[in-house]
Amino acid sequence: MKDLRNLTKEQLMELAIKLGDKAFRGKQLYEWITKGVSSFDEMTNMPTSFKQKLADSSYLDNYKILEHHVAKDGTIKALGALHDGNIVESVFMTYKHGNSACISTQVGCKMKCTFCASTLNGVVRSLTAGEYLGQLYALQKLTGKRINNVVLMGSGEPLDNYEASVRFIKMACDEEGLNISGRNITLSTCGLVPEIMKLADEKLQITLAISLHNPFQEERAEIMPITRRYGIKALIEAVDYYIKQTGRRVTFEYALIDGINDSNLHAEQLGVLLRGKLVHINLIPVNAVKEKAYRPTQNDKIYGFKSLLMDKYNINTTVRRELGSDINAACGQLRNSKL
Ligand code: SF4
Repeated sequence: MKDLRNLTKEQLMELAIKLGDKAFRGKQLYEWITKGVSSFDEMTNMPTSFKQKLADSSYLDNYKILEHHVAKDGTIKALGALHDGNIVESVFMTYKHGNSACISTQVGCKMKCTFCASTLNGVVRSLTAGEYLGQLYALQKLTGKRINNVVLMGSGEPLDNYEASVRFIKMACDEEGLNISGRNITLSTCGLVPEIMKLADEKLQITLAISLHNPFQEERAEIMPITRRYGIKALIEAVDYYIKQTGRRVTFEYALIDGINDSNLHAEQLGVLLRGKLVHINLIPVNAVKEKAYRPTQNDKIYGFKSLLMDKYNINTTVRRELGSDINAACGQLRNSKL
């Protein structure tokens, strides 16, 4: 069975011809798919015989929301089943500048960052670009609102699923499709150096976010084992290359963990590492994960950390507003289990 949401307009036109109809039927099909329909019955301008042929060989509804929870701040965490029964979470958030979705790219994750809930059971499989899109369609349908910002920051490492992530970005940006601006798509990675270099050469106008969390090689390796494969020096060189190729500012995510990575020494080293570069630092008080003993840094310390980076090293730094932490929808808290 074919997942129609994973096909481009051109591929749908070819499919229409293969099924004995005209290419324009494929275009109509694309319009319906990008409107987010989840059944063939909703395609009112299509002949029944064509819809029957589609139904015999393909499917649409590749992400069915099974349950959802609404946090006090309005953030919605959804738990949905993929066509093969695997379960992933996605999150809908409302900001001043629009509606944002945080979607999953893999069922689980194999990167083993110690502060993250998504990696507790390893990786089961990677999602297709169609399944990335399916999460957006399902959230739009659930809320009745258009999504104009997407962050690839749910469960999974998007660059460990490189082809699907790039395919998704191109499909989501299609003007005849969801028409999301590349600038409103953020890809977050733990630092897969070869893939960052490859992505740089694609010259997509998206935002790259690097989960750094510690500026010292050995300490970072303790919480993010990927550091043993690609060290901080190589990571920063890859980021320099990315900036050179794309002209885009890169975001560094830094989750502050009480007593682990929030000292003045850490702030100084972070400043030394990133000063003078086209970067932005996002400080995030780490979220409590029930299986781990991490606690968030206290507010006064967070703002001291921020001031040092801004005043001494002149690096644009913000403290991220955490949405949805009361329902485990914040970063590092997604998992493929029941709510
Ligand atoms: S933080 Fe990201 S890369 Fe690290 S284990 Fe979690 S999902 Fe994977």
